[in-house]
Amino acid sequence: MEEESALRPMDAEQLREQAHKMVDFIADYYKTIEDFPVLSQVQPGYLGKLLPDSAPDSPESLQNVLDDVQEKILPGVTHWQSPNYFAYFPSNSSIAGFLGEMLSAGLNIVGFSWITSPAATELETIVLDWLAKAFQLPDYFYSSGKGGGVIQGTASEAVLVVLLAARDKILRRVGRNALPKLVMYASDQTHSALLKACQIAGINPELCRLLKTDSSTNYALSPDVLSEAISNDIAGGLVPFFLCATVGTTSSTAVDPLPALGKIAKTNKLWFHVDAAYAGSACVCPEYRHCIDGVEEADSFNMNAHKWFLTNFDCSLLWVKDRSSLIQSLSTNPEFLKNKASQGNMVIDYKDWQIPLGRRFRSLKLWMVLRLYGLDGLRSHIRNHIELAANFEELVRQDTRFKVVAPRTFSLVCFRLLPHPNSADHGNKLNSDLLDSVNSTGNAFITHTVLSGEYILRFAVGAPLTERRHVNMAWQILQDKATALLESL
Ligand SMILES: *Cc1c(COP(=O)(O)O)cnc(C)c1O
Repeated sequence: MEEESALRPMDAEQLREQAHKMVDFIADYYKTIEDFPVLSQVQPGYLGKLLPDSAPDSPESLQNVLDDVQEKILPGVTHWQSPNYFAYFPSNSSIAGFLGEMLSAGLNIVGFSWITSPAATELETIVLDWLAKAFQLPDYFYSSGKGGGVIQGTASEAVLVVLLAARDKILRRVGRNALPKLVMYASDQTHSALLKACQIAGINPELCRLLKTDSSTNYALSPDVLSEAISNDIAGGLVPFFLCATVGTTSSTAVDPLPALGKIAKTNKLWFHVDAAYAGSACVCPEYRHCIDGVEEADSFNMNAHKWFLTNFDCSLLWVKDRSSLIQSLSTNPEFLKNKASQGNMVIDYKDWQIPLGRRFRSLKLWMVLRLYGLDGLRSHIRNHIELAANFEELVRQDTRFKVVAPRTFSLVCFRLLPHPNSADHGNKLNSDLLDSVNSTGNAFITHTVLSGEYILRFAVGAPLTERRHVNMAWQILQDKATALLESL
């Protein structure tokens, strides 16, 4: 490599030139994204065969690296931004979100305390208040009251920090030796992140009550089942302390009945957390806001702006009713971080609202998204996907070989290919074969779940590039593969 082209770490003119090349590379990627198999088709360990055993001793050119990205990395990428991506839940990218990430990378601040970049803290507080208003959250979730919002990396971190706050709060009340008696409640549809949080928080695994749901409540948690479990536990000398309700479960987007659950939580003094990681985005539309009716009784509320809200990963929004609980569990105040603003209680130090010390300037990208699309832009983004999912649901209903197996509330359709009536495994293998067969085409990517013991296909619309024709093509592939499978039986 020639001397004059060697990159210095922070040369503004080199940055301008190289970053332009990178932007061109990314724009070309988006332009050709449909040419790649949406689900990566490589085998485990593929990359070790393509890359050298050690890092280079001397610098290489960006072009060399980009060539490798094209040839060696992209084949191992699953294209979450492809319009043919219908798996899990979406993970939106957008130009605004991307620009915000770029700016955040450019400034590269570490905003743990207010003093480390006052704008990072204050912008975060402001955009979370903006969104509290947009989602019509109760007043006490605003920073002007006793609560406030904070950006976490993921919903998993959000539920962990509130669980820790709830644990410490109850232990302050009943004594530290009650830890082995604490009981947590959620439905069996709750995200696995909650159990992981309980594991980290030292909650007795036998007292993590994942209450059974079934098709009779569309997989929502029944208040009666919850009341009964709490009564039994109290009678057994245990200490109920935490309830997690989900709005839009991961398997089937079931919506737990917040008003009834909140009442029970209040009566029994449980911390009431509402996990709306995916579906929370829809509540920016007035016609979906009712899905979080009852959030007024919640102690904490979480939604992932990085799923379906045009904000690049990661950006998980958490509001708490009483920030002092969170701070009591998570604050530290070493000498080397002391400063006048913090000591004088004049500012928020978000380091005390999260697990790590260091934190990124994530509010920039959220602010960019809110300003460059506006709430109306976000609303039409959501409505468009819900309409596309409704179209897909209609297509499934018209083909009597298939069945829609759970109500579609947002942009996820759960369905399956009906098996022969005397199929030994209720068509589980048939549907798993259908999934593999569709995904191996590389022209669509869908995932599955199990509901009531049955293997179910999930079709989640939400990639910003997805249009009606992509949904129709995915359905055509599903139909063709189903025909082939049924004929081969
Ligand atoms: C996606 C999801 C999570 C986990 O989200 P992360 O941000 O990846 O931790 C938790 N709960 C629900 C309901 C989800 O949909």
